[in-house]
Amino acid sequence: MQNRYEIATMDGDGIGPEVCQAAIRILKEACGASLLNFTAHEGGAGLYQRTGEVLPEDSFDACKAADAMLHGAAGLPGVTYPDGTEAGNDLHLQLRFRLDLFANVRPIRLYRGVKSVLADWQPGQIDYVIIRENTEGLYASRGAGVNLRGELVTDTLVMTRKGVERIARFAFDLARQRKGAPRDGRHRVTVCDKANILKTYAYFRAVCDEVALGYPDVEIDHAYVDAITVHMLKRPDFYDVIVAENMFGDIISDLGAGTVGGLGMAPSGELGLDHALFQGSHGSAPDIAGQDVASPIATVLSGAMMLRWLGDRHADTRLSAAAVRVETAVERVLAEGRVVPRDQGGMARCSEVTEEICRQLR
Ligand code: ATP
Repeated sequence: MQNRYEIATMDGDGIGPEVCQAAIRILKEACGASLLNFTAHEGGAGLYQRTGEVLPEDSFDACKAADAMLHGAAGLPGVTYPDGTEAGNDLHLQLRFRLDLFANVRPIRLYRGVKSVLADWQPGQIDYVIIRENTEGLYASRGAGVNLRGELVTDTLVMTRKGVERIARFAFDLARQRKGAPRDGRHRVTVCDKANILKTYAYFRAVCDEVALGYPDVEIDHAYVDAITVHMLKRPDFYDVIVAENMFGDIISDLGAGTVGGLGMAPSGELGLDHALFQGSHGSAPDIAGQDVASPIATVLSGAMMLRWLGDRHADTRLSAAAVRVETAVERVLAEGRVVPRDQGGMARCSEVTEEICRQLR
């Protein structure tokens, strides 16, 4: 337990500043003025445009030294490297690789007061977690692909035993702690891959199967990535924990978010053994940036994940209790339906949703 925890924040681009500042305000309200010390650092596509750097070394050092990181979002369309890839994305890719944030935890939960695009599913029936492997897979070759004279291009999908084993163990450990799938209460890990087509995914599945032998109390389930996109719509209550390779995890977590109110409702935590970064699953949503209309909920719930992670890590019940307070306040605001974010069909501004959550906390 520490007297005070250092949180490195980064507003980033697009809606990043408004949702990050909203979350900071709410976390301060939940934890009191002195438990968390937030320090802002620069990074992102806007910074790259101005300086040629997406993640300056001093920002990286501060993120590394902090107890945890809380970010808004990074990336702007059109701000690209010479190879055509977006510069802003590199900020989080660098942090993931350099700080070994291997487990990207993306809860998919339908809250009371939020209407799912899936007819007939009620809160409590959609409640699972996608574990996206965050340091290997197809995205690991970012920057290292080959473009041969403009005629032939390749990117390489990479997996290691160490990487697959640790993400599988992470998923099984998490399934053990959860209360099971809403449908049947079974502790279940679904391995999402394309094992029928590529060696890498067959390997991913085989290593997950090996790890599963150490968890006889957790059921193992397999789904091809194309099939799971249908299952996630038709039987979302079947899922408890889904583990997937980096790119597949990226794609299916947006689909999962779509079933519980959209990207504005989907939090995310990127965990390593010594470092962790929290930000909404969404990107910088430039189409709605700077208008005070974004939903802060994904970032606020990511902040609650941060409090829980810090609380567990430092055996600090003040933080775990604050995490519950933030989640309860969000739940109440959504359930009461007086202040409804715009992406949920309401008229409330980002600042109004933030204020309402603070009011609940008080
Ligand atoms: P990235 O690839 O960087 O994750 P993306 O291309 O998936 O980004 P996002 O920026 O995540 O795109 O957002 C997609 C759309 O979802 C946005 O254009 C916006 O309309 C909506 N959206 C995303 N986040 C929010 C939010 N917090 N509140 C309201 N709407 C949002």
